[in-house]
Amino acid sequence: MNQLNSQFFKLAGKHHALAEKLMELHVKDSPFSLLPEYSFDGLTKGILCEGCGEFDSGFTTTLTCKKCDFVEDKEAAILRSTEEFSLLFPQMKITSGIIFEWCKIIRSRAVIQRALAKSYQSCSSKKGTYYI
Ligand SMILES: [Zn+2]
Repeated sequence: MNQLNSQFFKLAGKHHALAEKLMELHVKDSPFSLLPEYSFDGLTKGILCEGCGEFDSGFTTTLTCKKCDFVEDKEAAILRSTEEFSLLFPQMKITSGIIFEWCKIIRSRAVIQRALAKSYQSCSSKKGTYYI
């Protein structure tokens, strides 16, 4: 171990200079941590295609993107969109009504309720059921 230490772990002046340079260049507050202002009402609703990121998905038993032909199961798309909603609005409760509005192209609220019930725990409050 001493031989290894002496061979590989000797810090020379250039290492200290590099460390000082890195410390000097360190940015404490990343400019990328500043999020733009956004609100639920101000964002476009719909399910983004997982393949290309477009909103323009067609609706059959599955969701098929008109742009890239990516096919996704409705339930998977609902849950993925719910995760996006949750990430964007952590202070808002996940309800079938809000996810129905968020997904926009799913025409049945019952489909959304079933998808949420499978993957989330339902809780009751005076205002109705929400999911965590
Ligand atoms: Zn697509």
